[in-house]
Amino acid sequence: MDNLLSIILKNKNGVGRSIMGEESSGLLTIERDEGRRKCPSCGEENKNMIHESTDKTNIISDYPRVYGKKYRCGRCGQEWREK
Ligand SMILES: [Zn+2]
Repeated sequence: MDNLLSIILKNKNGVGRSIMGEESSGLLTIERDEGRRKCPSCGEENKNMIHESTDKTNIISDYPRVYGKKYRCGRCGQEWREK
């Protein structure tokens, strides 16, 4: 149990460091790929690792209010949105 916990903590710290290394405004915008969605940074393709969320800084329509989507890679922490 102790070992497992320390591994999890280590991983969390690793991800934290890689996020700190990115620019804070480093939200990439990429062309929508025809194939599978994958991380533009590390190439992760597992959709369980790619988290979709609402990008409130990207308003597509004022009325009705529609926001764009953004994606975050659970492996390397990269965030991006698609055109
Ligand atoms: Zn990634």
